Amino acid sequence: MLHLSVSELSAELSRGAVSSVELTRACLERIERLNPVLNAFVTVCTASALEQAGQADLARAKGDTRPLLGIPVAHKDIFCTKGVRTTCGSRMLRDFLPPYDAWVVERLHGAGAVMLGKTNMDEFAMGSSNETSHFGVAANPHDLGRVPGGSSGGSAAAVAAGLCPMATGTDTGGSIRQPASFCGVSGFKPSYGRVSRWGMIAFASSLDQAGTLTRSAADAALMMRTMAGLDHRDSTSVDRPVDDYPNELDKPLRGLRVGVPIVHFAKGLSAGVEQGIRAALAQLEDAGATLLEIDLPNNHLSVPAYYVIAPAEASANLARYDGVRYGYRCADPTDLDDLYTRTRSEGFGEEVKRRILVGSYALSAGYYDAYYRKAQRVRRLIRNDFASAFEHVDVIAGPTSPHVAFAHGAKADPVQMYLEDIFTIAVNLAGLPGISIPAGMENGLPFGLQIIGPDFAEARVLNVAHQFQQMTDWHLRVPESAALEGH
Ligand code: GLN
Repeated sequence: MLHLSVSELSAELSRGAVSSVELTRACLERIERLNPVLNAFVTVCTASALEQAGQADLARAKGDTRPLLGIPVAHKDIFCTKGVRTTCGSRMLRDFLPPYDAWVVERLHGAGAVMLGKTNMDEFAMGSSNETSHFGVAANPHDLGRVPGGSSGGSAAAVAAGLCPMATGTDTGGSIRQPASFCGVSGFKPSYGRVSRWGMIAFASSLDQAGTLTRSAADAALMMRTMAGLDHRDSTSVDRPVDDYPNELDKPLRGLRVGVPIVHFAKGLSAGVEQGIRAALAQLEDAGATLLEIDLPNNHLSVPAYYVIAPAEASANLARYDGVRYGYRCADPTDLDDLYTRTRSEGFGEEVKRRILVGSYALSAGYYDAYYRKAQRVRRLIRNDFASAFEHVDVIAGPTSPHVAFAHGAKADPVQMYLEDIFTIAVNLAGLPGISIPAGMENGLPFGLQIIGPDFAEARVLNVAHQFQQMTDWHLRVPESAALEGH
């Protein structure tokens, strides 16, 4: 039961084969058993989850049939949860109790989902491996010695290991899609503005976007139906109708034009991943799609541009952690300067400090034009590249990551870690929707196919992903139980 999809679980709940309380209890028991090795959750809400599940069962008994009613969900610990500690993977917020719920949390709660707890993540979502978390790295359920990816690694690991059927994540440069690829789950990042950022702790505000980690694209469509929408509390939330994502899934692929970026198949791509992705593309072709090679001429500038823009925005967003308003405060400060300095030195980890330094430098007088303004121009070129490509193709598809999950500690050099997002970052810079879905295995480890759409074409992206999942069973493979069940 713990590896069923949301829609299958929903059907089981409606026909009374299982109650939400039983389902929730099963998830909680599995978390209790496996979390000591996976470290996917940093907070588990046992009592409130069982209470919410009880309420969902009562509502169902009264005829409520909403699809997410009684389905357990885990939230990345970047989303504020009222009265439930929200750490953002940082010592700075280790004991932070938000006074309100994030939009995403509020919406899923309103749809009857049961919150199991909060998942592990890289500190302030800065990272690609979960290793920058103050709470320690999470493990990849397919190989406990490897990372789950990041920054939404806890959510991806939790879904992959059957600790929960669905989870939320955020993606600033690849943080939903890359861990989805590493853990063998479906990770969807909507267009910028489609899901409100209200109550989502800010990293790089012009890039951050909330999304989903699930077992299938169809489940992402169900979650997105609830999470998308206009919210006046986020000024970048868009005022446009939300498509009926679940109803668009069945469109056949006949006539679909799929752009294949040549640059995504350049050197550095592992042989097994390349072969698997080419096979996946051939499958789309068999289903009636046409493959067209496309050029994204400025793609090589996406990582450098991102590592100016994202740290610049982060340095401004993280200025609020001063030891005065909320979060960690150093012991016995001698004066205000000492309070600021020690609070921030002790509260932030290495990677966060590195970003604050880089960002402050890039924004400082004399360097603003040389770095920040230039990076913004490059960002426009990257967006234009996609716009030209989408004049000829309906979606773009290629690998999510150049390789499968790596071992803990394998990428000690920050720049090596930054290059992890080589195929995903441009999508954030352009604000587009993208999904990673399981498309193959190399040496027993999963990797993902990334599908990118034009602005607000989430329905199309989910449709293509779903059609691929109708033809393949990569998304149904669960981690070899040997590693997990030994515990
Ligand atoms: N790995 C990228 C970074 O560290 C992206 C992270 C994210 O998407 N939150 O900035």
